[in-house]
Amino acid sequence: MSKNLASFYFFLACAFIGLSFGVNADLSVETSTDPTPAFDSPYSSDLTTVRLQLNWKHQFEFAGFYAALEKGFYKEVGLDVRIQEWRPNLDVSQAILENQADIGIGYSNILIDYAKGQPLQLLFPVFQVSPAVFISHKPIERLEQLDGMRLTHANGVYALEMLKKRAQVEARAKLNFTQANGDIEDFIDKKVDLYTAYAINEPFELQQRQVKYSIVDPKTFGIQSYGDYVFTSKKFAFSNPEELEGFKRASIKGWEYALQHTHEIIDVILNNYPIQKSPEALQAEAEQIERFVRPAGTKVGDLDINKLEAFLRDAKNLGYISVEQFEKLNLQQMIFNPRLADFTKDEQNYLSRFNSLSVSFSPNAQPYSFLDASGQWQGVCHDYLKSMTDYLGLRLVPHQKDWSHLHSEILEGNLDQPISCVIADRSLNHRLLFTDTLMTMHLALATDKNVGPVKNFDDVVGLTLATVSNHGLHTLLRHYYPEMELQVFETMALAISALKSNRADGIIAGFSTLNDAIQRNGVQGIRIVGNLDTSLPVSIGVPRSQPVLYSVLQKALDSMPELDKKAIQHRWLQAKAVKQVGDNRFSEFLLPAIGLIILLMLIIVGFVFQRKMQKRYLTQVYELSNAAFIDLESQTFMWVSNRFSQLLGRSKDEIIGYDCAKFFIPLHAEMPEVVYEQLRQGQEWQGEIIVKRSGGGKLWLKIKLTPESDWLGRRTKALMTSVDISDQKRIEELLVRDELTWLYNRRFYNEVIDQHLAKAAQVDKGVMFVLVDIDFFKRVNDDYGHLYGDKALVGVAKVLKTMFDRSEDLVFRMGGEEFLIVASCDSAKDLEANLEDLRQAVADLKIENARGIDGVVTISMGAGCVQSSELRSLDADAIFKEVDELLYRAKDHGRNRVEVKKRGIKALSQRKIFKN
Ligand code: GH3
Ligand code: MG
Ligand code: MG
Repeated sequence: MSKNLASFYFFLACAFIGLSFGVNADLSVETSTDPTPAFDSPYSSDLTTVRLQLNWKHQFEFAGFYAALEKGFYKEVGLDVRIQEWRPNLDVSQAILENQADIGIGYSNILIDYAKGQPLQLLFPVFQVSPAVFISHKPIERLEQLDGMRLTHANGVYALEMLKKRAQVEARAKLNFTQANGDIEDFIDKKVDLYTAYAINEPFELQQRQVKYSIVDPKTFGIQSYGDYVFTSKKFAFSNPEELEGFKRASIKGWEYALQHTHEIIDVILNNYPIQKSPEALQAEAEQIERFVRPAGTKVGDLDINKLEAFLRDAKNLGYISVEQFEKLNLQQMIFNPRLADFTKDEQNYLSRFNSLSVSFSPNAQPYSFLDASGQWQGVCHDYLKSMTDYLGLRLVPHQKDWSHLHSEILEGNLDQPISCVIADRSLNHRLLFTDTLMTMHLALATDKNVGPVKNFDDVVGLTLATVSNHGLHTLLRHYYPEMELQVFETMALAISALKSNRADGIIAGFSTLNDAIQRNGVQGIRIVGNLDTSLPVSIGVPRSQPVLYSVLQKALDSMPELDKKAIQHRWLQAKAVKQVGDNRFSEFLLPAIGLIILLMLIIVGFVFQRKMQKRYLTQVYELSNAAFIDLESQTFMWVSNRFSQLLGRSKDEIIGYDCAKFFIPLHAEMPEVVYEQLRQGQEWQGEIIVKRSGGGKLWLKIKLTPESDWLGRRTKALMTSVDISDQKRIEELLVRDELTWLYNRRFYNEVIDQHLAKAAQVDKGVMFVLVDIDFFKRVNDDYGHLYGDKALVGVAKVLKTMFDRSEDLVFRMGGEEFLIVASCDSAKDLEANLEDLRQAVADLKIENARGIDGVVTISMGAGCVQSSELRSLDADAIFKEVDELLYRAKDHGRNRVEVKKRGIKALSQRKIFKN
């Protein structure tokens, strides 16, 4: 910054550049009752009492909490926890919101309640997968089979509610809701066909009483959810963040202890709580619980926001919440944020009183603040405020406000709400408190005239300059440069047209605003010829009357990770770096450089140099994005950006020069060739791919490939830009994958199978159906426990996946220990040989099953190879039925064997894929 301008800035404390936002606390959302002081505990002097409300009667389901209490983990964090047993008709959410308890254990209905606007905060899930299931008298494989069944309502257990809804909506099953007693006798007496249960409880009781039952697990049908959510009210979270954080830590520690010391905790439960269950039933529960609380690969209390979103997306599709409620959701806000402990009591009180923050903004200041095509507020300031309000657990409510109106409110001192995103102007210090700088705005000059390099204000004296009124910049300029010829326009488009018609010599504004306007208005010939060496700090301004809100916002800003700030800058101000090189130094630097390039090109006509230049140019432009440059001949990477190399977790040396196929997993087999061909023909290609990270991870990218020609006009390379869409993909995948084995679930089978068969018929390919069932698996569970059983399932699934790993192969977990492989097939003979290998590979895993065949886990299979001609007269149900019969023949014939249909499969069904 030149000296005169530095002093200019400091003295004058500039006028604001109109990116002004009023922020006012929205009082309307929560009707707050008197805040009840945490507790007056008569029992303990220095411990804080916390009431924990269970969602059922005392049993091993809550073992971690008893353990934390018994082992003194709660005391260590200063808590006196009182456990309250569930009683009939108690709604735990309601109890929490009405202050009958502080922390609750809830079913997934608390997610629905939150989406509907209840002020709840989630601490952690106890169960990584919900143990909620239906038990039925006969096995259920398809939702259609639920037609006509009698059941009771499963209030609050949404995994089950959703399964019922899907049966009704998708399979048109009619369900009969009965008013039975709701206890297990109803099931035993066959008064109901489906009974709501926890997989860790009722099955044991039924086994004891020798009642036959089958389990209908919502997961099999693609309904993913956590179970037993530990939650609290927003009010409690905001006024007791330290206590909550302590509670969470101690409870998780309690759970880890309980899983290690089940016998000890069973004794604790029996000795201290009124228990209806027998010690044996508690023991059975304890044996099963680990695979729900800590299934393979997870830690107690893990929480994945994508999984919450996947669940709520289903809830929206089934009509439990509205589309609007779903779109308004901010799940990050629902999760308890321990950083709240950094706030003072006053600040916490403030935050607990409000649910939202109203923000007024002035548009027309791209890229800082503007309305996008759909009328949504966007830009740098929006992103900062969004990130800060997310952090604070407040909903951001933007209000468009005319700048001049807002401006006079500030000057007249009757502004009763805070404003943000304003140039920190010392002359306004008596009215506003400014947060730290959000970003720096650089003043610049743009023109299409022959104006020499401009470095500071002295260079523009004598020029007629246009500026835009809604920036308020003119106030500043008029004040400090009264001699400057200044024309003020309402919009940047008008300023540009003044320039074009020679009514002005240049436009003065913030660099990014200018840059953006020039690009958006698509004006030829206008370029940025200089920046005025003046940087104006933009921050949030809060009325002096609201010091608490000020400090809250400042803290939110303080705790914003540097990376997030960079990401915002990068998102909106990225063009700056490009433009500055392109235009700003144009006359000083690039012209001679280009002269030199031409000279050199004449001397060294060759690809090597040209390639180097290409690389250098690209380096400047794309270094900050996920970009790469691909050689279309060798199909290798020519150049990759820093960000892209970070994304892959590999150094540039490990990528450049290597075949792209080494890093990309295309989504179908023909993909790479089709794509390269399209590029060679000069067309862009867009699509999704998976990239392999070093260390084994995978990322989903949405990529765009743009072919580029060399100077001879040959299309030899393509520019790749990409966006990481892994989160979105994970949400989509969660709905169609089985969480334990990560194979496709039955839901996905139902969704894709008809289409898959139709496509096979079209391209004239045979299809194999292989139904796989583990032998004597019940004995595995009985002899080694369910956790071991789960590990065996994962092991078998892995073999199936490895042997059928072509991109068009489909491997499903159809439920329990039954899998289905659908893949292309040439002949029944080859198929038989392949499956023999598969059978052997599973046996070779040598997973112990003492009462199994040869003491290990084995599989039986029923399989058929359907020729494409046959596909015209068969549908998936018919094929499935046939291989199912073959599977049972394999079982009858001694297990650990394959039965393959030798002749064509007969059409069993009247339904056809193709109607001739
Ligand atoms: P067969 O050889 O005739 O197939 O005998 P089986 O014991 O394998 O057959 P059955 O269908 O009677 O038993 C299947 C068992 O699979 C019953 C159930 O406890 C168990 N199971 C189902 N799903 C799961 C799961 O997700 N994890 C575990 N560990 N066991 C499961
Ligand atoms: Mg079996
Ligand atoms: Mg089975």
